[in-house]
Amino acid sequence: GLEIRLASRPKGWPTSENFDIVEVDAPQPGNGELLVRNLWMSVDPYMRGRMNAGKSYVPPFEVGKALQGGAVGEVVASNAAGFQPGDFVLHNFGWRDYAAFGAKHAVKVDPQAAPPSAYLYVLGMPGMTAYVGLVDVAEQKEGDVVFVSGAAGAVGSLVGQIAKQRGASRVIGSAGSAEKVRYLLDEVGFDAAFNYHDGPVAEQLKAAAPDGIDIYFDNVGGEHLEAAIGSLNDFGRVAECGMISQYNNAEPKPGPNNLFMLVSKRLKVQGFIVGDHAHLKDQFFAEVGGWLRDGKINYRETVVEGLRNAPDAFLGLMRGENTGKMLVKIA
Ligand code: NDP
Repeated sequence: GLEIRLASRPKGWPTSENFDIVEVDAPQPGNGELLVRNLWMSVDPYMRGRMNAGKSYVPPFEVGKALQGGAVGEVVASNAAGFQPGDFVLHNFGWRDYAAFGAKHAVKVDPQAAPPSAYLYVLGMPGMTAYVGLVDVAEQKEGDVVFVSGAAGAVGSLVGQIAKQRGASRVIGSAGSAEKVRYLLDEVGFDAAFNYHDGPVAEQLKAAAPDGIDIYFDNVGGEHLEAAIGSLNDFGRVAECGMISQYNNAEPKPGPNNLFMLVSKRLKVQGFIVGDHAHLKDQFFAEVGGWLRDGKINYRETVVEGLRNAPDAFLGLMRGENTGKMLVKIA
């Protein structure tokens, strides 16, 4: 099978040159290990951070070694109690056709309950991120006006829907194309949406939220964050989830110029990492899983076929080529 390695660390925007696609022998599972054939893998914005050297909340990828990331696969051989060939597992050894790893790194998933790719999206890390950001971090209350950037992406589209289900009075989203705006309004159920390329974010947000916003769920940073601070009502909250507009900057860009409003409006801004909120997992599965079963969640997948094309899927994600979740179908 194939595996995809980090060839070199990008400066600024990554390119296909930063990836190596290598033919390797299938690994042998040791004692307590599984051999898994990957079926689906996720490409995610945080992987851009892992391509850089230097300490962050996850260790950097190593040059010359296979990349890692969320994947769902089928067990083909098991040297571990509790796992059988044919089981489906969620794990973190994506970017390769076959992976061998300790069974403690695998979570069994039920392909009858939801399609395998759902464990990389609605019922997986992006869904959990949307949920804990609203519930734990932004402390969403009935009647809040919620603004989310990156609204047509995996996390953002779920933020809008979960916010609505939990009693938001108005949900506003921004995204990077007219098609995405139409998708948010016609299919996902946003009350208002705009294309951030159409004009200054601050002006478009003011028009969409004439009475201000109570929560900003930030996926983008930069101009969006500055605009949101301007529109937040007193005691508003910011769930600081990501800043994708900054990830490919070779040099730092000037930041928001209105940070004193954090003080004058008594805003609460909290950065968060989804993994620290595992105490909400059961509540998340019960609540979001229920809405999913009842057909109340719209989820769009943008599927790139073939492991070989995973680098293009990742680069496309950075450029906004996905609506909903960007996924790679490996087999
Ligand atoms: P998405 O599915 O939202 O894909 C990324 C999207 O970002 C693209 O589709 C593109 O859409 C948008 N984008 C790219 N560049 C820019 C830009 N300069 N300005 C505005 N939008 C841009 O990815 P995810 O849902 O997986 O992730 C969304 C955010 O959440 C990211 O910032 C990510 O790092 C963060 N995250 C954080 C987690 C945490 O634990 N804190 C966990 C998971 C994700 P468009 O066409 O609209 O530009």
